Amino acid sequence: MSAPTRYFDFNATTPMSETARRAWVEAAESHWHNPSSLYREAGEARHRLEFWREALADHFGIDEPERVVFTSGATEANNAVIRHLAGSGSGGLAVSEIEHPCVEMAVNLSFAATRVRRIPTDRESGSVDPDFIRHCIARKELDAVSVMAANNETGTLQPWQEIAVLCREAGIPFHTDAAQWIGKLPVEGFGECGYVTGSAHKFGGGKGAGFLILPEEETGEPFHGFVGGPQEHGRRAGTENLPGVAAMVTALLERDEASLLSLAEKQSEFRNAFEEQLVSQMGVKVLASAGPRLWNTSMFVLPHSRNLKWLTRLSQRGFAVSTGSACSAGKGNPSAVMMAMGLDHDEMGRVLRISGGWETNAPDWEDLSSAIRETGAELQAQ
Ligand code: PLP
Repeated sequence: MSAPTRYFDFNATTPMSETARRAWVEAAESHWHNPSSLYREAGEARHRLEFWREALADHFGIDEPERVVFTSGATEANNAVIRHLAGSGSGGLAVSEIEHPCVEMAVNLSFAATRVRRIPTDRESGSVDPDFIRHCIARKELDAVSVMAANNETGTLQPWQEIAVLCREAGIPFHTDAAQWIGKLPVEGFGECGYVTGSAHKFGGGKGAGFLILPEEETGEPFHGFVGGPQEHGRRAGTENLPGVAAMVTALLERDEASLLSLAEKQSEFRNAFEEQLVSQMGVKVLASAGPRLWNTSMFVLPHSRNLKWLTRLSQRGFAVSTGSACSAGKGNPSAVMMAMGLDHDEMGRVLRISGGWETNAPDWEDLSSAIRETGAELQAQ
């Protein structure tokens, strides 16, 4: 029997944690009734839903649980927020160039191009410049701002806290897509931030569940993400996924904030050692290394050969890695993140994204480093 694959694609998705799985099964077996129905069992399901809403709100330091809206994931939540922002003003939206396609495409669909200001990205750190937003605010060009918390490709941590303060002082709504941050780093500050979106399957909570946190005070129009039934206090129509919610919140509460911080410190040492080896021995170019990044993420340009060749060989050696969105490079669809990082077309086709997990250990990173070096030698010998 071949050895199990060593998984290094946690930014794409994560396996459901054991405690989350148990919470899912318990809710699916005991509370499968529709929370909107009127008999006793439905009332119990509704009660459980509110219990999980309060637990999630509490985790974010939020006193009003009704600010939490459960969704099917971050895509749905981001789509809804962008649509809402487009509908509640006629001015501009400042948005980073490196958003996930579910934000980027929603912006392109919902906002006229003349209303959109693209916040430039620093090529060394992968970070957006809050001064750009400051200037737009001073010129009264903005109705809203959307900047993700952590980038899914490079792992760059964006200055969302500073931007949130700028927006609050200017009375402008702020949205941050925190799908890659939540579960990996402490969530302090998100409760006062504005619109915040998260996704369960990025932190062991299973697929098909996510959430949106609404701002402390409703700004602009009341939030109606989807039309239909009156679920989620009228903010998100559709029968609630109680087992998904139970698993998501259980997974989120598994790690306290202090243990996340020490894990981040230890894990980034493993990741940094891995990168140092690849830089010194193979000359890879690490992206966004000049700024703060998620502890689990490494994205780099390989010295030769197309990334799909590397990915296939690494898969044969038992390692699951990713080309990120750069995989579409060379097919007439260059990655926005790679472009913002200043890569040329050829470099985009040589990018790999590695993203470890909470339990990934030093030998895992060392073995991956050896496998990459062996693959490089093999590809060069061809
Ligand atoms: N936003 C970011 C930053 C992501 O990384 C992802 C997932 O890849 C999403 C949004 C979409 O999340 P979901 O799969 O929950 O729709």
